[in-house]
Amino acid sequence: MSDSEQDVRRLHELVTQCVLCPQGCEVDRSAGELGNCRTGADAVVASSGPHFGEEPCLVGTGGSGTIFFSGCSLSCAFCQNHDISQQITGRELTPIGLADLALRLAEAGCENVNFVTPTHIAHVVAEAIRIARQRGLKIPVVYNCGGYESVPTLRMLEGLVQIYMPDFKYGDAYTARRYSHAEDYPAVAQAAVAEMFRQVGQLRLDERGVAVGGLLVRHLVLPNDLAASRLVIEAVAAAAPGATINIMGQYHPDFRAAGHSELMDRVDPAEVKALRDYAARRGLLLVGPNVQPRP
Ligand code: SF4
Repeated sequence: MSDSEQDVRRLHELVTQCVLCPQGCEVDRSAGELGNCRTGADAVVASSGPHFGEEPCLVGTGGSGTIFFSGCSLSCAFCQNHDISQQITGRELTPIGLADLALRLAEAGCENVNFVTPTHIAHVVAEAIRIARQRGLKIPVVYNCGGYESVPTLRMLEGLVQIYMPDFKYGDAYTARRYSHAEDYPAVAQAAVAEMFRQVGQLRLDERGVAVGGLLVRHLVLPNDLAASRLVIEAVAAAAPGATINIMGQYHPDFRAAGHSELMDRVDPAEVKALRDYAARRGLLLVGPNVQPRP
């Protein structure tokens, strides 16, 4: 049995007393028990297709081949994607069905297969990638996750994922607890980013400027510096020196934000620019809608 085959088998075993993610619910999802992510043993795909709204280095000319999963291991008060992440609706797919979908996106000309919110079904995603590679999938796989990741689970994805694209949501434990019920988020995300960087290194582009491998961290700036963005930048710079980051200024109040008056404000564009400058001074490379790294 190959290393990746063993890793896929171990990931499936983790689901029987689930510790796939740092929530550590220890429920037997293979027997129908549900943990915080409210997802059974199979993946539920909410939507899929070429997506042109991601960073230019992921979109290229063919679009990023996104596969959006229902459910999430986190439940952030301001979730910008809550219609998918907080409801379990869509098609249930086995690893073979998911591999078929990935291959169809590649045949349609997508630049990559972009698994969006894969953390809670990492076992299905890993097996699907193995099957798709055996059946000829050539384009990179993007692991587009919330940053609240278990390092042991990430280790079992080594060699299967070419591009890690984690959020790094908070630099401060108080806000992580207040908005995501995950006080340990900053420390967990920093360890996860370090592991991802160890596996895939700096973001690499081909001659067309399209990403072929590496780490791309995303940080959504919250109003009133609630995310403690400078601490996020410091944590990324420490875990992955010289890594690429997208500091995003498109926050809008959504989901349960109305329950927190401080989340109802808008983000000041001048603050976003100041944060980008700060990240550059800390040695990070910037990427975003109008900023593209050099090939
Ligand atoms: S993947 Fe789901 S069930 Fe498993 S530990 Fe995380 S939240 Fe709990």
